[in-house]
Amino acid sequence: MNEDWQQALKASITRPQQLAELFSFDPRPLEAVADRYPMRITPHYLSLIKAVGDPIWRQCVPDSRELIDVGLVDPLGEDNLSPVPSVIHRYPDRVIFLVSGSCASYCRFCTRKRKVGCREMTLSFRDLRDGIEYIANTPQIKDVIFSGGDPLLLPDSVLGDLLARVHAIPHVEIIRIGSRVPVTLPERITDKLCQLLKRFSPVYLNTHFNHPRELVPAATEACAKLADAGIVLGNQTVLLRGINDQPEILTDLFRRLLRNRVRPYYLHQMDLVCGTEHFRTSVDVGLNVMKSLRGPVSGLASPYYVIDLPGGKGKVPLVPDDVVREGNKLLIRTRSGEQVEYSDYKSGS
Ligand SMILES: *Cc1c(COP(=O)(O)O)cnc(C)c1O
Ligand code: SF4
Repeated sequence: MNEDWQQALKASITRPQQLAELFSFDPRPLEAVADRYPMRITPHYLSLIKAVGDPIWRQCVPDSRELIDVGLVDPLGEDNLSPVPSVIHRYPDRVIFLVSGSCASYCRFCTRKRKVGCREMTLSFRDLRDGIEYIANTPQIKDVIFSGGDPLLLPDSVLGDLLARVHAIPHVEIIRIGSRVPVTLPERITDKLCQLLKRFSPVYLNTHFNHPRELVPAATEACAKLADAGIVLGNQTVLLRGINDQPEILTDLFRRLLRNRVRPYYLHQMDLVCGTEHFRTSVDVGLNVMKSLRGPVSGLASPYYVIDLPGGKGKVPLVPDDVVREGNKLLIRTRSGEQVEYSDYKSGS
């Protein structure tokens, strides 16, 4: 009874050793990394890798540098913002609803990497029920963001049931879904799924393309199907050192997303998460990208460059002029006008 996408997911590789049968490299140092932070690469995403260390490889293959613990365990202070385990409530009118603990492929730079794919993230039926109850009892919530993990790894029946329950809450105005499956498991975007999502309109789906090479026909066709079903598509990109930290790469990515009816929404500065230090860039890199987009490129292709300030202070769009530099310290003006000190990433430190 398994659907094609479930078969594809089952055929994913989960150990460095399996990768060594396809590429020439030494998998042994990576086994310990995969023990600590789970590895999974779908057949589709694997097919995008052309060489060891290329921009696709680096996003999904474990790296020994992940075991170097610099950064914070919970940099965004999310653990303090959870009224129930499946809900993160930081802003008055919207919540993140954690509905799935796993992803099609595990991104090595993931902000929730200490949780996704691990037992800690396993959500019980009761957690989901408590989440829906919390949303139903909190009238200021107008926007529910299905997240995880990847919500689209849930079977249609479970996903449909959760969507129906949230959609039926009178004060909930829109539903958002954050999912990387258009990039990593495009088979998941079936006609049946699109019909299901369409029932709960307005649905906004933010996906996660990081590099132009991910925009292959299978992925763009998945996006087209969703757009045809009336799902409004956005994209969140993470600024990743050595992968997409050049203005030309991101300009190309954003333009091509627009052509595929996907609006670039956020460009994220890397969070200060343990085991992701080797992906971090300086804030100046992101500001430069934003400067190079301003003017030459359609405003529609220009996302907000956001930093999620540590300690639960929230996401702040960085505009080149809102940042004052004092050596390695940045003074960043938040939306409420507060100046927050931020210690910039310095390479080699
Ligand atoms: C990012 C985020 C949201 C959504 O924020 P938008 O700026 O509206 O996209 C909601 N809740 C939390 C906790 C978040 O981190
Ligand atoms: S798909 Fe999202 S939640 Fe899953 S590993 Fe990648 S970044 Fe993390």
